[in-house]
Amino acid sequence: MFKKVLIANRGEIALRILRACKELSIPTVAIHSTADSESMVVRLADESVCIGPPAARDSYLNIPAILAAAEITQADAIHPGFGFLSENAYFASMVADHAMTFIGPSPGHMILMGDKVKARETAQKLGLEVIRGSDGELASLEEAQALAKAIGYPVLIKATAGGGGKGMRVIHHEHELAEKMDMAKSEALASFQHGGLYMEKYLTQPRHVEFQVLGDAYGDVLCLGDRDCSVQRNHQKIWEEAPCSVLSPLERETMIIKVISAMKKLGYSGAGTLEFLYEEGQFYFIEMNTRIQVEHPVTEMITGLDLVKLQIMMAAGIPLPLRQEDIVFRGHAIECRINAEHPETFCPSPGRVEAYLAPGGPFVRVDSALFPGCSIPPFYDSLVAKLIVYGETRDECLQRLRRALHEYVITGVDTLLPLHLRLCETQAVQEGNLHVKWLEQCFLAHHAPLI
Ligand code: ADP
Repeated sequence: MFKKVLIANRGEIALRILRACKELSIPTVAIHSTADSESMVVRLADESVCIGPPAARDSYLNIPAILAAAEITQADAIHPGFGFLSENAYFASMVADHAMTFIGPSPGHMILMGDKVKARETAQKLGLEVIRGSDGELASLEEAQALAKAIGYPVLIKATAGGGGKGMRVIHHEHELAEKMDMAKSEALASFQHGGLYMEKYLTQPRHVEFQVLGDAYGDVLCLGDRDCSVQRNHQKIWEEAPCSVLSPLERETMIIKVISAMKKLGYSGAGTLEFLYEEGQFYFIEMNTRIQVEHPVTEMITGLDLVKLQIMMAAGIPLPLRQEDIVFRGHAIECRINAEHPETFCPSPGRVEAYLAPGGPFVRVDSALFPGCSIPPFYDSLVAKLIVYGETRDECLQRLRRALHEYVITGVDTLLPLHLRLCETQAVQEGNLHVKWLEQCFLAHHAPLI
């Protein structure tokens, strides 16, 4: 097992990794920017190193500073969490070059899946269906026009390097194509320094259903079931459930077998998620994330497994301690992302938290690095807490979620708490009648003011 793990992240995920390390008796090093010196992970870690000023490019994305911190503290492994450098293959190989372990898949798999066109091609070769669209990167406007005509509008233009819903544009008519391709390209260049685009048929009411995988260093792969992440705004998830309530046992079983077979053929190791759109009984692969995800706790709740501990153990060369037949899915779990944002405009709301009181009681879990008086800096992602609730049934889970949301107090900054409370009380949510456009088209467009 590792002698010391450096946590190359911040906020709730840094704390989540620290907790896993503590339970594995592995000493930890927290790195932090000057904006995070007072953070919970810095207080709880065995050691901490300030790696730079607030801007992420100078701190949490500063590879030389992070490697230097790991060398100085003699860490032998680095956990990247999600976001920041978690899907940066160059960072992963630099970590290996410095004789340390990157807790994640091989750089080769990160490169393959980091390019969404290559990921699409690979998924097809591995026997997964993809949405009708371009075979590779779009080479010209003329090619895009011809393809859109062939597959039929609406189409979606996506960035090959995409992530976080950036560089995506829906096109309903041919006359919008040129302008929207330019917009997608500029956004992709600004966000990913790569302007490559591809096209997919735009599905109007799909669900987002994803499958969690975990592979060890010896070719064994487990699939820990599915999550439904259809409640989204701006193509970003804010509410996730496990399992997806509309899949039949046969559909689930078939996909689990397909996903395991695909990952074994690929030789994938580490934690990963295969994301699909699900419409009219069909699954279409859209991308693979080669890291632990924000929503991993709902899978932990229904499987009873600690994914972060397992991820660390796999990276340390320990074989998977259980077989697919040992995995039992029990009950239902929901996660609400509590972002420090205005619940209607979604404008970030950094600042000082005044009162903070997290909910408790049976089957309620809060993953957060907040505490009374802490500050939420304006420089980073606005996700500040995750409320995860478990119930024997989806109905019980929703009742418990509503109860927990009523208990949750965060003052001093705006949060999405009022939105989540309203969602619990909405018929479509109670009936599980959701799709990826539901929040924007059916809920936000019509609801009464929240606050
Ligand atoms: P990113 O990597 O930017 O998160 P994804 O490819 O994972 O992008 O897609 C994010 C979300 O965008 C999906 O969950 C879905 O809501 C929407 N989306 C992606 N592709 C399509 C499509 N072909 N049709 C309709 N919606 C899509």
